[in-house]
Amino acid sequence: MALMNGSETTSSPQAAARALLAFWRAAGVDMDEAEAVYAASPARPAPAARAAAPVIAAKPTPKARSKASSAVDGAMALAKAAQSVAELRAAVQSFEGCALKATARNTVFSDGIDDAPVLIIGEAPGKDEDEQGKPFVGRAGQLLDRMLATIGLSRQSNIMISNTIYWRPPGNRDPTPGEILACLPFVERLIELKQPKLLILAGKASANTVLKRDEAVTRLRGRRLSYTREGLTIPVNTMVMLHPAYLMRQPQQKRLAWADLLLTETWLDELGVARVPQS
Ligand code: URA
Repeated sequence: MALMNGSETTSSPQAAARALLAFWRAAGVDMDEAEAVYAASPARPAPAARAAAPVIAAKPTPKARSKASSAVDGAMALAKAAQSVAELRAAVQSFEGCALKATARNTVFSDGIDDAPVLIIGEAPGKDEDEQGKPFVGRAGQLLDRMLATIGLSRQSNIMISNTIYWRPPGNRDPTPGEILACLPFVERLIELKQPKLLILAGKASANTVLKRDEAVTRLRGRRLSYTREGLTIPVNTMVMLHPAYLMRQPQQKRLAWADLLLTETWLDELGVARVPQS
């Protein structure tokens, strides 16, 4: 992920990771706490403390910072006001604080069943998703559907699919930290409103955004995780899976994906989630 501001650019993975961590901190996320507890709700510092917080290597101007912070505040207010998934969908559609909306054809919020027991969250819409206004409808999405079908999960019966970003980044570039932060309150509210029996995070970007970490997906996958934050009455069972687009590029990793599906199946059985019998 490259972070650009004015004439300075950070493009090595290490520099980008450092910049992302600094951005989370500047946004009020307690990174030490986030390491210890998955996605524990960040205590937001008072405005004065926030102004003094460390900033990204390439310093945003005060104007840019205040614009980004008001986008996040606006998203938080809209998200908090939504009392159902339908209201949250309408809130995302009305949100003007993410610049990606200007270049996208459609808002891509979700597909599947709103009160499904399983919630899958991916990264960002691509070209097909932007055209159709639904997540995961391109080639990666078709692979995802085939994978889920092997364990009796489908959009028609027991899953809801969404993303951490609701508008296609131009040319499928990585979303910027500002774009991620502007959408995050809606993502968190979706999890809160649904309190799914199982949350599945597809791919590294989704996992690191929702869990507020900076870790390789290979370290997060294959484990039973627990997502907790303020507003949730109980922790949410969570798994991380390899992104289907990654599996298309690295087909030798499909054996790991298969192991993850088997673990998911076992967990769903234990949770009593009804599935579609396989023909
Ligand atoms: N990849 C994602 O992460 N989400 C989509 O909706 C499509 C592709």
